[in-house]
Amino acid sequence: MIQTTDFSSVLKSGYYVDGQWKETQQHYDVTNPSTKALVAKVAYCSTKEAKEVVDSAAKALTAWQAITAKERAQRLKKWFDLIIANQKELATLLVTEQGKPLAEGMGEVVYAASFVEWFAEEAKRIYGDVIPAHKGDSRIVVIKQPVGVIAAITPWNFPLAMLTRKIAPALAAGCTAVIKPSEETPLSAHALVHLAEMAGIPAGVLNVVSGDAKAIGEVFTQDKRVRKISFTGSTKTGKFLYQACANTMKKMSLELGGNAAFIVFEDADIDAAVEGAMASKYRNTGQTCVCVNRFFVHDAVYENFTQKLAAAVKKLTVGDAFSEGATQGPLINQMAFDKVSNHVKDAIAKGAKVLVGGKPSELGGTFFEPTVLIDATKEMLMSSEETFGPISACYRFNSEEEVIALANDTDFGLSSYFYTQNLSRAWRIAEALECGMVAINEGMLSTEVAPFGGIKDSGIGREGSKYGIEEYLNIKYVLMGSI
Ligand code: ADP
Repeated sequence: MIQTTDFSSVLKSGYYVDGQWKETQQHYDVTNPSTKALVAKVAYCSTKEAKEVVDSAAKALTAWQAITAKERAQRLKKWFDLIIANQKELATLLVTEQGKPLAEGMGEVVYAASFVEWFAEEAKRIYGDVIPAHKGDSRIVVIKQPVGVIAAITPWNFPLAMLTRKIAPALAAGCTAVIKPSEETPLSAHALVHLAEMAGIPAGVLNVVSGDAKAIGEVFTQDKRVRKISFTGSTKTGKFLYQACANTMKKMSLELGGNAAFIVFEDADIDAAVEGAMASKYRNTGQTCVCVNRFFVHDAVYENFTQKLAAAVKKLTVGDAFSEGATQGPLINQMAFDKVSNHVKDAIAKGAKVLVGGKPSELGGTFFEPTVLIDATKEMLMSSEETFGPISACYRFNSEEEVIALANDTDFGLSSYFYTQNLSRAWRIAEALECGMVAINEGMLSTEVAPFGGIKDSGIGREGSKYGIEEYLNIKYVLMGSI
């Protein structure tokens, strides 16, 4: 076992409102998905606490907007420094409640921090516009203003990064926030908020509740003062929230499920494609929304690619986040495990062949063996649903037209990947794929400097980059007449 770091300095189990950690009578258990051991008993919040945090964020809004962008930037920069200074504590806490291998947890802390640094810089660059007017005695300007109180609802797969990429631009823009992290992994969010307080983020600017997701969601969606919801999670919940917000006409950012295609053309560098496939498919044990869900491999290189992929997958090590050399953790919970098992069983029943894995791990619990399946077909569940686990399903194709049709034959449109050495094909395919992000000859595309987000059922809005801050701003057109 790897030596663990004491995370008690960042462990907070209450809920956070108006600059204070408070307790509730009821609690819920947060457990380690590898060992099922109790990590902490966390305050179980419901309608009352949700209303309390919205009141707090609304009260703090005017003062937070009134300080200069430079000052907001400085506090965010300080928050960034504290996140980096506490990298080990945060990573240890994160993997204890989430299960990913410690090295990946350390990476997530840096990735999460990168959004805070980026938006600290962007805070000072919220420029407006001057537009040539339609009348000689008039002038037109466009100013940008914070949307107001925002609600961030986040999932368990990247408990730190999914939060900072919402909260950092919100705070940079001058918004205040109420946060509802996933009940699987609330402690990471609590730790971040604790560090934000130490960085001088004033009372009421950030508030956190979790527990009864439905009741909290009801308050956030129905309260008029909440002007925006930024959500990352399943398409089902995203659509529910989108509808629920129609009443109060909120601005929405929805980062939902994916069904990523990874295309290997006959002219691809196969070794590079295998490397990219491993990075994209098996990171976080296949539990990311940009993980490959479908591998489309040209007939001419099918054997070569699938054999090499299988050889690479055989080298992966399944284990507890803190076990030496582990590269694959457990699936987050029984539901996730059941879905992965069902997808594999369904594929095998419909003719897929197993090259590696294909069954639960001997470690038991929710550990599943990293798997490679060949002879996948459109009829299998994993073709239309997001598997969210360490399963590679490989399909065969013969032409560009065929593979474009196959890749786009999904309701989702988040990310796609393809490997080719041909420049005109690279442009042709990048433009033809129906999705928000395309990686060419690369398996990893997430970075704070680029716009992350999807189209179709994968959602609306973008996170990260110069576009990410626009999601937290309203534009106002100001006309000056008779001058
Ligand atoms: P996942 O499959 O990733 O858990 P979910 O969409 O169920 O996806 O969960 C993502 C986040 O949305 C979690 O924080 C969860 O608690 C929250 N959530 C689920 N249902 C609701 C709801 N009705 N209102 C508000 N938040 C919800």
